[in-house]
Amino acid sequence: MVKKNIQEIIRCMPKVELHLHLEGAFTFEFLFGLIKKNNDNEVKSIDELKQKFIFKDFQHFVEMWFWKNKFFRTAEDFEESTYQTIKNLSSQNVIYAEVFFSPWDFEPNGLKVETIAEATISGIRRAESEFPINCGLIVDIVRNHGSATAMNRLNQITPYLNKGIIGLGLGGNERDFPAYDFKEVFRVAKKRGFKLTAHAGEAAGPESVWSAILDLEAERIGHGVRVIEDQQLIDYLIGKKIPLEVCITSNIKTKVFSSLHKHPFPDLFKKGVNVTINSDDPPMFGSNITEEFDLIYNEWGYSDKEFQQLTTTAVDVSFLSNGDKKKLLEVVNTFWEKIV
Ligand SMILES: [Zn+2]
Repeated sequence: MVKKNIQEIIRCMPKVELHLHLEGAFTFEFLFGLIKKNNDNEVKSIDELKQKFIFKDFQHFVEMWFWKNKFFRTAEDFEESTYQTIKNLSSQNVIYAEVFFSPWDFEPNGLKVETIAEATISGIRRAESEFPINCGLIVDIVRNHGSATAMNRLNQITPYLNKGIIGLGLGGNERDFPAYDFKEVFRVAKKRGFKLTAHAGEAAGPESVWSAILDLEAERIGHGVRVIEDQQLIDYLIGKKIPLEVCITSNIKTKVFSSLHKHPFPDLFKKGVNVTINSDDPPMFGSNITEEFDLIYNEWGYSDKEFQQLTTTAVDVSFLSNGDKKKLLEVVNTFWEKIV
């Protein structure tokens, strides 16, 4: 029996991350190295770089997203960035992660999608061989370019299914590009064996979540927090056990909610929705999964019992096989048995 304080428990406990974008999860150290490698003198130190990522508004966030993308120019950049990100997750005792990537973001840099996909998978495999963590990739085909482009992207990435890639995701502009348009893409992906998740109920309301579930047959909803506006939808989620990948700090930073007091996480949790805790774009939002657990402890008083429950839920709603879920649960439960 080990007695520890709660912060120590949060740091040590095995964690599962289900909603993180590799393009938004670089470490500052890595990005600074990349900037230097490209002989760019725009930033002089890591601290200065961190300052650049304190956003004035959402437009500034988007500008910075594209600004840092321009430094990723070779296969090695993607391999090393992915490796460092997974290593960082492991240092926080994340034992399993499902992470989004969207290689098309970097086409303007002259890189082939296949090159980025292979480098990213290689970075994951290297990290998995060195640290006690496993990781599955979910390809985000992004709403903003329409359904024909999305179908092309699905076809382009399908050769990597079950060779690193496990699922399909749909991020991007939720308000102007409704889920319905991607019904056929998701139908084909499901038939091929992709696991399905879609961002919904973040920038748009409950109707967007209904569409992700009914039209796309999404097995999980990215964010989904605006389901709080529709009790019928909440009942449906509970009945069908459809989980939400909640990213609290992200929602505050992108102003989905004006303050933590208005965030529906405690309500959704209490009502019995299958919620999970995730970090989205950690350095860009000045957070990480450890700090997200710190937050729910500090703000809402969640503690051991809830941390274990949230982690168990995350294992349960992951895209792993039942056998692999069982192995992860053993790791999680072994940790918690030692805590008093
Ligand atoms: Zn996201």
